[in-house]
Amino acid sequence: MRRKIVAGNWKMNNDLSGTEALLNDLIALVPNTEATVMVAPTFVNLFQAFNVLKGHNIEVIAQNMHQEPNGAFTGEISAQMLKSVGVNTVILGHSERRAYFGETDELLAKKVAAALSNELQVVFCFGEELEDRKSGRHFSVVEEQLKNALFHLQTSDWEHIILAYEPVWAIGTGETASPEQAQEMHAFIRKTISEKFGDQVGTTVSILYGGSVKPTNAAEIFAKQDVDGGLIGGASLKAEDFVAIINAI
Ligand code: PEP
Repeated sequence: MRRKIVAGNWKMNNDLSGTEALLNDLIALVPNTEATVMVAPTFVNLFQAFNVLKGHNIEVIAQNMHQEPNGAFTGEISAQMLKSVGVNTVILGHSERRAYFGETDELLAKKVAAALSNELQVVFCFGEELEDRKSGRHFSVVEEQLKNALFHLQTSDWEHIILAYEPVWAIGTGETASPEQAQEMHAFIRKTISEKFGDQVGTTVSILYGGSVKPTNAAEIFAKQDVDGGLIGGASLKAEDFVAIINAI
């Protein structure tokens, strides 16, 4: 189903008391909205995040997971572990996972499959680097990322996939894709998915934009036809800013 979604990726920020404080601020400020609001605290605070948000309309999601169900993978977290604390949605393929932890499309294909087989919804991130855009390769890079990590899926799996187009050059840089650049790429992504999986999937998959979304630019990006919301990093760490972005949708 094509939903409006605003998701905050807190990355490696906020200890336990910081997590509780930000969640309580959000409880006070997040408006009643038809959009789905999600926040992704660090693993160790997921359980407490569910406690704090009990009865509130904010979904707690995870930032990553390992592809194996269990075993000798020191420091890793499995899908089943996420499920056991109440998580239903996991972010996979974030550019920081790709850049700093060597996650490849091939590995991500396995992670996506593991998430889906554990009935987790996936927010799948992808996007081109600055050099790709400068050299005009951005469409082919994005198409390859989608093909390599998601083209093994069944049509029915797409009910559980949310796409997040995040041009790497716009993440945490203050540099944002223009609304026109975002729309152009989102339309391309929708077309690519439609061609492989059919129009029903292409027209119903939610495609979020991520990359320096702020209260000042959210409305014009979200107004674009093929943009269904945002994955928000830095601006999701301040309740007022995150709420202003939610209001922009
Ligand atoms: C992100 O990390 O997914 C992101 C979009 O970060 P920022 O909003 O800070 O650019």
